Amino acid sequence: MLSACMLSACAPHWRAVSVQIAQRIFLDNLEHDNLVEETVEQVYCLGCSKFLADRFIEGVCPLCNYEDARGDQCDKCGKLLNATELLSPKCKANKEHMVEKRTSQHMFLNLPKLEPALREWISASSTTGKWTENSIGITDGWLRSGLKPRCITRDLKWGTPVPMERFKDKVFYVWFDAPIGYISITANYTSQWEQWWMDPKHVQLYQFMGKDNIPFHTVIFPASLIGTGKDWTLLHHVSTTEYVRLPHARAYA
Ligand SMILES: [Zn+2]
Ligand SMILES: [Zn+2]
Repeated sequence: MLSACMLSACAPHWRAVSVQIAQRIFLDNLEHDNLVEETVEQVYCLGCSKFLADRFIEGVCPLCNYEDARGDQCDKCGKLLNATELLSPKCKANKEHMVEKRTSQHMFLNLPKLEPALREWISASSTTGKWTENSIGITDGWLRSGLKPRCITRDLKWGTPVPMERFKDKVFYVWFDAPIGYISITANYTSQWEQWWMDPKHVQLYQFMGKDNIPFHTVIFPASLIGTGKDWTLLHHVSTTEYVRLPHARAYA
């Protein structure tokens, strides 16, 4: 994932820039009342003595009953998941470990509040930017199933710190700040980065990815930028591939 590989190998300067931009986007959303705080259940592993990150949990998809669904998404039906929704959740590090649900306070991006502006942008951008068919289909499916507030913080030690005193031991969910990495890597390259990222009239953003990444780039990332109230350069064209299913693996085509 973008932020993971970039942050782990990066220079301290890049990390400082990245943290600063992600925290600013978070605080702008907070100031515009586009974040809500909720109590959530999480999966805690008694064997590992910690809350488990989504990718370290596996279980059965509640929608299609696929047995190897990940804690954040089902690779069979494409549904984005909260790990606590998985049936029979297991610790991926050791499937014999006992896991249980525990509660914690978290911040959510208020997608229902942002939905009118998001729908207007999706309608315009998907047409003028000629999004690929599967991008439009998967994004429409997301809108039709109803947008819910999306949790953007986690109880983990590694990551971008949440800039609130009460949340000082929490970090951003990787899919909140991973796409912000597109912006901060530009900022690391040039102090003139706003000429690219805050000039939607003159800059067109093209993105390329496998189809499992579509909703993060057509719904969550644009919503988190719209929610700042600032004039960000948003996605213009998205080119998204299908999967090739092989007997024991998966590849993008
Ligand atoms: Zn464990
Ligand atoms: Zn599924």
